[in-house]
Amino acid sequence: MKKFLVFFTSLMFLLMVVISIDSLAAENSDVIGMDDDLDHNWVEYSVDYNEVDGGTHEYTYWKNFIKRTRTCHKTHVIQTVVYYCDVHDHTKSETFLDDTIHSHQHGE
Ligand SMILES: [Zn+2]
Ligand SMILES: [Zn+2]
Repeated sequence: MKKFLVFFTSLMFLLMVVISIDSLAAENSDVIGMDDDLDHNWVEYSVDYNEVDGGTHEYTYWKNFIKRTRTCHKTHVIQTVVYYCDVHDHTKSETFLDDTIHSHQHGE
């Protein structure tokens, strides 16, 4: 029982550290750019992937000499990279489009 308690406490501590780093990233996001001339030591801290709805579009294909139209659903995969600089003890994050997934395979 005591062992579990120690484990639980350290788990809570870890969770708090993660949360504080998260809020740090949010706080500093608009400060970046102002201190571009400083010597940073950006080290990749974490990589996250999020899927965003990319809407639908239609595409045509031929089957048995008949032109058909199908609706394809797009999903954008957004990659978020968090960097940590141990010189100034701050973080920054970058997001960019990693991939676009089509629900149907088609030529165009
Ligand atoms: Zn820095
Ligand atoms: Zn498509």
